[in-house]
Amino acid sequence: MTPERILTWIDGSIHEPDDARVSVFDRGFLYGDAVYELVRFFDDVGMGMDLHIERLRRSLDRTGITGFDPGTYPSICRTLMDALETSDACIYLQVSRGVQVPRRHAPDGTLSPTVVAIGSTSAPLSELEEPIQVPIIVLPDLRRRSCDIKATSLIENVMATIQAVDADAAEPILHEDGLLTEGGSSNVFVVRNGTLLTPALGDPRPILEGVTRRFVVEAAGNLGIEIMEGDVPVDALREADEAFVTSSRRLLGTITSVDGRQIGDGRPGAVTMQVFEEVRRIIQTVLENEHAH
Ligand code: PMP
Repeated sequence: MTPERILTWIDGSIHEPDDARVSVFDRGFLYGDAVYELVRFFDDVGMGMDLHIERLRRSLDRTGITGFDPGTYPSICRTLMDALETSDACIYLQVSRGVQVPRRHAPDGTLSPTVVAIGSTSAPLSELEEPIQVPIIVLPDLRRRSCDIKATSLIENVMATIQAVDADAAEPILHEDGLLTEGGSSNVFVVRNGTLLTPALGDPRPILEGVTRRFVVEAAGNLGIEIMEGDVPVDALREADEAFVTSSRRLLGTITSVDGRQIGDGRPGAVTMQVFEEVRRIIQTVLENEHAH
């Protein structure tokens, strides 16, 4: 594997990570008053690019952050990937409400947004042979309520992730009153008797509609695997035959253990592998269709 290379794009110009800077008065820095996306590129094609743009548009509308056209996301990605000289990358984009002096909670009506992107090289599809391994711990979901907005106020996610790492896990899986919501930076799926279970988008609270979650729903449909979106008790995860997390960066990650107890044999199970292969096939088809044009 080649080492990850990183470059940033700040309001139109490329910077090395060491001189990538924004103002301390940026509302993104002061309040987390910003929204973001992350798109995974394989072979120059952004996976679910339209879905990422739509979600960014919704996040901007819901938060009232104006002055940035989400339709320019692909060209920002292109600029960063040309600078990185790569076809396979993760491109993070953050749009904050802007820089405001003096510091006031109420936003000044005249702000223009700060737009920054971070591009990092990542593995091509051909190097992804099986899901990465993700031991997890279970924690109560103490995050802000409107988790369907992909906002950068992630302090609760960060604290939960620190707890996970301290417990030798890779990801916290959160619950509310014993019902799973999502991961610190992922959606979660449980396999029981050959059926996929995943928390519904609105219940027990709004969660993020992951683009990768959508790919998995599509894959399950193609494979004829039953999928239930609804209440998923924590115990269903503890007693799962298999379980996995999804996100644009990690695609599918096999949950190998829950609170230190191994799930299955700690390897990707049959259903996980089937879904993973089908998601890879869906991506491959997207690539072929894109490159045919
Ligand atoms: N939930 C949360 C809280 C996340 O941070 C992420 C990662 N962006 C996801 C779910 C997965 O979303 P996606 O598949 O669109 O990356």
